[in-house]
Amino acid sequence: MGRILLVEDSATQALKVEYALRGGGHVVITAKDGEEGRDMFLAQKPDLVLMDIVLPKKDGLSLCKEIKAHPTQSFTPVILLTNQGDIASKVKGFEMGADDYLTKPFDNEELLARVKSMLRIKELQDNLHRLVNHLELISTIDELTQVANRRRFNEILRMEYERSRRYKHDVCLIMIDIDRFKRVNDTHGHPFGDVVLKEVAARIRSTIRRVDYAARYGGEEFTVLCPSTTAENGAVLAEKLRTAVESSRIERDGDLVPVTISLGVASGFESGAKSPEELVALADEALYESKKSGRNRVSIHRVPADNKKPV
Ligand code: GH3
Ligand code: MG
Ligand code: MG
Ligand code: MG
Repeated sequence: MGRILLVEDSATQALKVEYALRGGGHVVITAKDGEEGRDMFLAQKPDLVLMDIVLPKKDGLSLCKEIKAHPTQSFTPVILLTNQGDIASKVKGFEMGADDYLTKPFDNEELLARVKSMLRIKELQDNLHRLVNHLELISTIDELTQVANRRRFNEILRMEYERSRRYKHDVCLIMIDIDRFKRVNDTHGHPFGDVVLKEVAARIRSTIRRVDYAARYGGEEFTVLCPSTTAENGAVLAEKLRTAVESSRIERDGDLVPVTISLGVASGFESGAKSPEELVALADEALYESKKSGRNRVSIHRVPADNKKPV
């Protein structure tokens, strides 16, 4: 059973159709002209539209075209009510995206059967849309930490790197690695390691701005990509992230488990990176520097001033 929008200017015809549809258990809303039909379609999001072709203000064919062009996620079937022998309108209707038609005068049973068949197709389409949306989501999000996964990170990195070159805005990448994480796993077990990963991701997410992107790069490594950000400003954020993780009070059986991260910062301009991959490699070098010099710290990748070129 569905919510059906009927667009019909003839009051007697409308009554007949409403009666038949309600008899089939459907909810009917009726518009008397094309413009009202469009407004009701937008406001009420019906499951199906049944419409006359000859209508005041806006004819059924243009309304059909508008409905089909509307960027909605769900499929809204359109059935046209045509006159006997009006082949040209039927053909035009299909060209405008109509899904089916009924010739007046029609049989109530046939009307209900066609509506039912269209609603069945709509349900299949909607299920498919939901599935696609779900697949899209799970193919870009890391299940454990709920930040973007590496695949999504790579897409965003390429996009932001290109944008940075085009608009001459810097782009900054922060690579993050949890310190001595193996020890956390060895001491407290893998499931607790997962808890720590989730907590670190949550800290990263709540510290960055909405325009920055956090991702799980792999195992216990995360990245934060900051558009229009210099290495210097990126390092300020990196330091905030470092403190946020250091001050997170993660407990295990009442005992505090200290967790720290090391960070490496590289920006397109400062590092002189010539590709997104190189930017990652240079941020990784800076991260390695942080590890080497004692962990729980931030390092920035820089090139000597005379070597400096914009990306
Ligand atoms: P360092 O300070 O040098 O980074 O030391 P580390 O022990 O963190 O370094 P390493 O990269 O050798 O260890 C990473 C560990 O992360 C090893 C692996 O078992 C663990 N790990 C990777 N993915 C996961 C995960 O999804 N869950 C848990 N619990 N552990 C993970
Ligand atoms: Mg009419
Ligand atoms: Mg690591
Ligand atoms: Mg590590």
